[in-house]
Amino acid sequence: MNVLVVEDSRAIRDLVIAYIEEVGHKAVGAEDGHDALEIFSHEKFDLVMMDVEMPGIDGLETTRRIRARLGDQWIPIVFLSSNFSGSHFVEGINAGGDAYLGKPVNGPVLQSMVRAMGRIANMQEQLSRANRELERLSQVDALTNLMNRRGFYLNLGREFGRSAREHSPLSLIMLDVDSFKPYNDNYGHLRGDSCLKMIAKAIQSAILRPADIVARYGGEEFVILLPNTETSGAIQVAERVRKAVESENLEHQFSPVASYVTVSLGVATKKSSEVSPEDLIGLADKRLYIAKDSGRNRYVAESD
Ligand code: GH3
Ligand code: MG
Ligand code: MG
Ligand code: MG
Repeated sequence: MNVLVVEDSRAIRDLVIAYIEEVGHKAVGAEDGHDALEIFSHEKFDLVMMDVEMPGIDGLETTRRIRARLGDQWIPIVFLSSNFSGSHFVEGINAGGDAYLGKPVNGPVLQSMVRAMGRIANMQEQLSRANRELERLSQVDALTNLMNRRGFYLNLGREFGRSAREHSPLSLIMLDVDSFKPYNDNYGHLRGDSCLKMIAKAIQSAILRPADIVARYGGEEFVILLPNTETSGAIQVAERVRKAVESENLEHQFSPVASYVTVSLGVATKKSSEVSPEDLIGLADKRLYIAKDSGRNRYVAESD
């Protein structure tokens, strides 16, 4: 652990640092609240040992400021004080402290406190790592490994915001596999699933810009979000995707369109700030159905 030791008495500070280093941790000393906040702004700590009475900003106020800076992040803060009983203790916890040690400092007690706080900090770290992983998984589609619908909506909101701020165009392609029901009915769901994986790969292979976002929208429907892209660019992507799927040449004897798997696509571009995310999806969906009605294995962009 990296421990910040805030203590105005040089002798006590050096002693506390020595105790901490003795049990294998790194310790950095700060001689008052200002010094502590300054060091804290450019170094990461896992634990803070905080004196209460200090000239300038005292330990309680320094703790409040550290907590404010940390925001959602948490690290343990332990007070060191010779008169930390009753109302002082309540005030210390209210300021954001987690525990306290009386002075004069007792070596083994301090080292045990460091170990106890280290355990809690570790659990906390594991918990936030697990939360980050869950957050990531909650946005991933298990079959194709693409972003799922939830992830897509988060990105759609973000990209709408960016497009409004930067006055940049934003295009969306909605894709649906042609005659996928007969594919499943005849080849079985396992092959249906492999077919969806193939389509996910084909789409990704046809997307060239890192900012473009591909997601599985529903069963056999996919969306591609193209930031900073006008209709003409989106049309190129749609056609490249269509061809990429076609060139996989995955047999589909039960399709009325071709002897292999094909897709239909609807392309929509946000033209003004009046257009909502729902409008854009609705427009792409409408055009997708026009593509279906006019024979499938094609894209439809602007209808006017
Ligand atoms: P169209 O060309 O008009 O799109 O015809 P379609 O048969 O593809 O359309 P429809 O919406 O009737 O069928 C969608 C089918 O997709 C239903 C289901 O059999 C299949 N499907 C949806 N999600 C999954 C999935 O996760 N795995 C598999 N294997 N099949 C799925
Ligand atoms: Mg002091
Ligand atoms: Mg469908
Ligand atoms: Mg379909």
